[in-house]
Formats: sequence, structure tokens, C-alpha cells
Amino acid sequence: MRVSWQERFADSPDVLRSESHPRTIIPIHNFAVGGDEFVTMAGPCSVESERQLFSTAERVRQAGARILRGGAFKPRSSPYAFQGLGLEGLKLLARARELTGLAIVTEVMSECDVPQVAEYADILQIGSRNMENYALLEAAARSGRPILLKRGMVATVADLMRAAQCILSNENWQVMLCERGIRTFESTTRNTLDASAIAVLKLVSHLPVICDPSHASGNRELVPVLARIGVAGGADGMIVEVHPSPDQAWSDGDQSLEFDQFDAMMAELQPWIALNCAARTATPMTAAAEALQ
Ligand code: PEP
Ligand code: MN
Repeated sequence: MRVSWQERFADSPDVLRSESHPRTIIPIHNFAVGGDEFVTMAGPCSVESERQLFSTAERVRQAGARILRGGAFKPRSSPYAFQGLGLEGLKLLARARELTGLAIVTEVMSECDVPQVAEYADILQIGSRNMENYALLEAAARSGRPILLKRGMVATVADLMRAAQCILSNENWQVMLCERGIRTFESTTRNTLDASAIAVLKLVSHLPVICDPSHASGNRELVPVLARIGVAGGADGMIVEVHPSPDQAWSDGDQSLEFDQFDAMMAELQPWIALNCAARTATPMTAAAEALQ
């Protein structure tokens, strides 16, 4: 017997879309995520210095980004790797917002840090390694800030939906679901972009879906094409790493775009974004979801 989406995701009831709740639109400053605009979040993996951050912020703004990304608290695989500038990084992000008008997304790694990060950031990022840290999810939810929830690298779509449900259950409906690639047997890319997950999430959930082509690929040559796959899959936005000199980056340099590459990617994506918006209007996802029941 065929299992319906409702049954499959029965433990994430508030995350599921319905006729009365087809999509969630999250207002941020003077724009929104999950509406008709494809929203780009861009910036360095880690905040390193004033010069690095401000120059990147200005360039990504000029190319059409709405949100500046940058880690001040960094989850690193090695305890000897750079762990982030902490509070100093948050202050630089806030200053970059003042200078450019971009909104800020930055990761919070521990529930103890939530009040401080929420004071500076517009959007709290829950990283892949913390997707199932329920104490952190609850604290982040209670901050009232919108949340970018990154899929765990070994988490199923149902696990991601459950983590989102935890945030919704803690009275915060402003959740963005982020597909950032998962671990598979494939080793030519850092992770494997699960394009199916983007399609499934768009079909079954009302929450906005964000594609991360940087962590999915681990390789800047592949970032533009994975971004295009995200657009074609119906993502509501993307989060991309950009650095003034990627080869000198303190983290994730291999997957960070140079400024010119970011400009070119943004320009090349525009016709795809327009095409996808037209397709969405022609076949609303609700109709597609009903057809699949
Ligand atoms: C990041 O965004 O820099 C990051 C560490 O992402 P993830 O949690 O997806 O690995
Ligand atoms: Mn990174």
C-alpha cells in the first residue's frame, strides 16, 4: 500500500503544507523569504577581519544578495582549526549591516550563546552538526528570531522535518529548511547535493527551502551549477560562500567564490530564476501535491 506524505511525516504535522497553509513567508527587513523573490545569502564562511567582511558585504550587495552570511562561532572538524572570532565577529557583522543594509545570518552553536547571537543577528543559523541538538533548537526558537535550519549531513528528510517541528512546537514559525549536501559513498564532491530533498520539501512543507551549493560541493567550480539545480528544484533561496581571496581563507576556501565569480553566477542565474517563477505560477505546488496524494 502506498504511504501518503501525511503518514510518512506524521510526527511533523505543523511542518506539512495544507490547502489552508500552502506557504510560509518570513519577513526580514524590507523583503521576505518564501515569497515570490529568490533570496540570496552570501558572504565568507568565517568572519576574519573588518576588511575581509566589509569588502565582501559590499560586493555581494551590489550583485543582488539580500543577506550577509559569516560565521563568528565556527564548528570545525579539528579542535586545532580556527574556531571563529566570537563576539568580535558578531560586532563586525552588525557593523556590516549598518554599512550595507544587508540582513545578517550567522551560526549559533550552543544554547548558552543564543541571547548574544540573537542580539546581533537577524537570522540564527543552526548548523548541520547541530540539527538534532534539541536543547539548542528550543533555545533558538524561544529567541523569536527566524531560523535557518541546516540539514544534518547524515539526516533524512524526515529527521529534518522533525527538527523543524521542534522549533515550531516552541512557538517559532519562522523556519527555513536548508539542503547543504549529505554524506554518501561519493568522494569527488565534499557532500552530495540531495536535489530530491529540495523537491520533496517543496512538495510537502509550507516552509521556505534554501539550497547551499557551497557545502554540498566543496569546490568553487561546481557552485554555480549546483545553485542552478537549486533554482530548478524550486528552492526559495540559496546560501553561498564568497571571499575576497579564497586561497587565503581561514575556512572553506576551496568552495568559496571569488568576487567576479559570484557576480557572474548571479547574472547567469537570473533567467533561470525568472523561468522558475513562471513555472511555479503556471503549476502551483499545491496542485502537484494534491495530484500525488
Ligand atoms: C557553514 O555554513 O559555514 C557551515 C559550517 O555549514 P554546515 O553546518 O552546513 O556544515
Ligand atoms: Mn563554511
